[in-house]
Amino acid sequence: MRKKLIAGNWKMNLTADEGRALALALRSQIEPDAPVLLRDREVMVAPPFVAIPAVAQALAGSPIALGAQNVHYEERGAFTGEVSAPMLLPFGVKFVILGHSERRHIFDEDDALIARKVGAALSHGLTPILCVGETAQEHDEGRALEVVLGQLDRGLEGTASAAALDGRMAIAYEPVWAIGTGRNASPEDAEAVHRAIRARLAERLGREAAAITRILYGGSVTPQNVDVLAGRPDIDGVLVGGASLKADSFARIIRARTG
Ligand code: PEP
Repeated sequence: MRKKLIAGNWKMNLTADEGRALALALRSQIEPDAPVLLRDREVMVAPPFVAIPAVAQALAGSPIALGAQNVHYEERGAFTGEVSAPMLLPFGVKFVILGHSERRHIFDEDDALIARKVGAALSHGLTPILCVGETAQEHDEGRALEVVLGQLDRGLEGTASAAALDGRMAIAYEPVWAIGTGRNASPEDAEAVHRAIRARLAERLGREAAAITRILYGGSVTPQNVDVLAGRPDIDGVLVGGASLKADSFARIIRARTG
């Protein structure tokens, strides 16, 4: 059975001190019943790079995993402003969000670049969360599946099934029109896209790898709508932006009813 993954993307929010405070508040909300609560789900937070050391310290000994919001494909060198996988590993970073729509649309990241980052993440033992999703216009033109599956194919270029068979691969379906807008894909529509993603993963990486790869939904997930989304069989968790910035709302999302 796939464990659900509840992932918080803090984006460019929270200083190191604020991140530490949020991590500690989250711990105190979920740790009392973590042995039961986390039997069928994992939790991850992805702070801004400079807050990672403080948040890592605050999460020491906790079941909450640490993620990064990006990574460079090289290990070191003349890449001003970039951060590599070996720089993240000493802080216990386990996940990295790649191909987020803000990276694609604001920073012009293309699928070829994202595929190199996916490869680098996997080769350093990080679990990539590869984000895919159509814009509002592509959605209105009925091209959601074509766009999402194209991003998936190109983003996984060069990825071998072995990596996915390790369970170290996750996909996040994040319709761009749903991110930070308060609009959601309906659970039925999201589920249909997730099923199509899993079918494509089976073609690319094999059925076994597809069966263990987690496919998250992201886009205006809140405590109010998480249950209907996370309850769907092909929605293996959620990637949460705004609602992950407050301990109360993220803790409620972590407690989503999934059955
Ligand atoms: C995101 O940043 O991945 C996201 C889904 O944001 P929000 O939850 O705020 O829509």
